[in-house]
Amino acid sequence: MNVLVVGGAGYIGSHCVRQLQVAGHTPIVLDNLVKGHKESIPAGVSFHEVDLADSPKVIEILKSEDIDIVMHFAAFIEVGESMQDPLKHYENNVAKTISLLKSMREAGVNKFVFSSSCTVLGEEAEPPFNETMPLRPISAYGQTKADVEVILDYCTKAYGMSAAIFRYFNASGAAEGGIIGEDHSPETHLIPIAIQVALGQREKMMVFGNDYPTPDGTCLRDYVHVDDLSRAHIAAFPLLEEKGRLLTYNLGTGTPASVLEIIKTVEEVSGRPVPYDLAPKRAGDVPSAYADSAKAKSELGWTPQYGTIRSIIETAWAWHQSHPRGYEDA
Ligand code: UDP
Repeated sequence: MNVLVVGGAGYIGSHCVRQLQVAGHTPIVLDNLVKGHKESIPAGVSFHEVDLADSPKVIEILKSEDIDIVMHFAAFIEVGESMQDPLKHYENNVAKTISLLKSMREAGVNKFVFSSSCTVLGEEAEPPFNETMPLRPISAYGQTKADVEVILDYCTKAYGMSAAIFRYFNASGAAEGGIIGEDHSPETHLIPIAIQVALGQREKMMVFGNDYPTPDGTCLRDYVHVDDLSRAHIAAFPLLEEKGRLLTYNLGTGTPASVLEIIKTVEEVSGRPVPYDLAPKRAGDVPSAYADSAKAKSELGWTPQYGTIRSIIETAWAWHQSHPRGYEDA
């Protein structure tokens, strides 16, 4: 399959590009490089530096590259920023996705894979989260993802296009060999921050709250390896052959880890201390979020190959250790 990976120079997109190659597909990268890193694109992969708003260009690429499937990873992901500047997130995450879907219709491409998030489920949901729970996001970011999920529901019914939605829990880790990995600016995620402390790039870190109703009082999250996420996406391709299909999957290992467990594991893997201070709870954090991925397991035959938090952190450590300044060191 010729697969257009929109946002293919970003964290999850760049890992998916490599997994597509492993699975024998031909990835073609489209990225405006606002957040993505050109250095993450493998040599020999066709790359188009284009914004989704440039519909004539997108249509031309869809046709000239003979695209069979579009995978869409390009989104702004910072929850705090989405609350301060919601229109920025709506424009990028919703309006540009609508542009992309219209371009696909124009070019006659009708298979779509969308990168969503467990944040569409909101605060009231009780873990483990399955796919039957209602959409109740509590941030503008989460709402943009939920909006696209609803748009895809209508589009698959109206236009005969087929779509697979994947809701990630905590995407983490890096490709084996440490050649590509996580490089966000600003970095807000727990594992890379703990690793930056281990590397001496930060003196210490904050643990946001330690009186949650969890075994050690810190939040429980479901950390799932990016390559496992990518493999689930690719496993859905055959199911998209049927017109009008809308598939939704929650992707996680189902085994959560606490903030303190993550810090301890980073200390073990790196062999270095990770000092921290206790800080007030971060707005919007739920005590516990983990996936029920039984549907992905039964329908896609998907099982995460990285089943332990240690195995995930080892790959993240290899990337950060060899690229302490991220892609500046590539
Ligand atoms: N967290 C923390 N200190 C940090 C960053 C994150 O204690 O410097 C906590 C955060 O409150 C949450 C968990 O780590 O409970 C995972 O946060 P992250 O931002 O990585 O992912 P999220 O679950 O918010 O998508």
